[in-house]
Formats: sequence, structure tokens, C-alpha cells
Amino acid sequence: MQIFPMSRINPVITKRQEQLLDELRKCADELSGQELYRQLQKGDNAMGLTTVYRNLQILVKQGLIRSRHLPTGEVLYTPVERDVHHLTCVNCGETTRLEGCPVKTMNIPKKTGKKFDLLFHTLEFFGLCQDCSEKNYD
Ligand SMILES: [Zn+2]
Ligand SMILES: [Zn+2]
Repeated sequence: MQIFPMSRINPVITKRQEQLLDELRKCADELSGQELYRQLQKGDNAMGLTTVYRNLQILVKQGLIRSRHLPTGEVLYTPVERDVHHLTCVNCGETTRLEGCPVKTMNIPKKTGKKFDLLFHTLEFFGLCQDCSEKNYD
């Protein structure tokens, strides 16, 4: 497989997409569509919730942001350059950031036929946090 992670260096994005991207880059943490919507409401760049979600989807497709889905159904977004993974408790949703990325050193087979334009990866670890596992087994 041929992988071209840098093939979209300068995608053309609209003003609104740029505002969303800026907001995500400013924030040290991941944001959901709702949170982004609320943050933009505070400033001059307010836009409707549907517009927020539609533009986030476009940014994901352009390889500028990554999305990850929580067991709660919530989707969180981060700039694609932020390669961070998490441990997530399936009971309370508590999330712990992990250091480093094991995927970077993974071997991707070179000959699988078709070209694949890699945008981002996700890697999730699910389990029970200490509080929840103590509650469950007491
Ligand atoms: Zn928990
Ligand atoms: Zn990674």
C-alpha cells in the first residue's frame, strides 16, 4: 500500500472552517461539536450548530482534523497534527491521555494493490477506571 499522509498540505478551506480549526488549535483539549458551538457563541464568529457539524465533517475529510467516537455517542475533534490517544472508562466516560503513539512505528504492508490516501488514525483503549471497577466489584 502506498500511503501519502502529506498529500493535502494546503487544502482550500472557507472562513468558517478556518474559524473552527483556529478554535480547535487554541484549545489544549479535544472539543465536541456542541462545545465548539458554545465557544464560538461567546465571540464574533458565532454560527449555527448544523453549520458547525457540517464544516467539521468537511475538515475531517480534508485531513485537517481528526474525530473520535466515545461510547456515549459523543464525537470529539482535534487538529490532525495532535497525535494523542486515550484510555476511556466505558462506565463514566473518564478519559486519560496517553503519552506517545504506538501506531507511528507500525508496519503498514507496502503491496496491497490500491493507493490509500491516509488522513489520520484513531486508537482507543476502553475499560473501567478505578472508581468504577471498585463500585462494580464491591
Ligand atoms: Zn469510570
Ligand atoms: Zn497515534
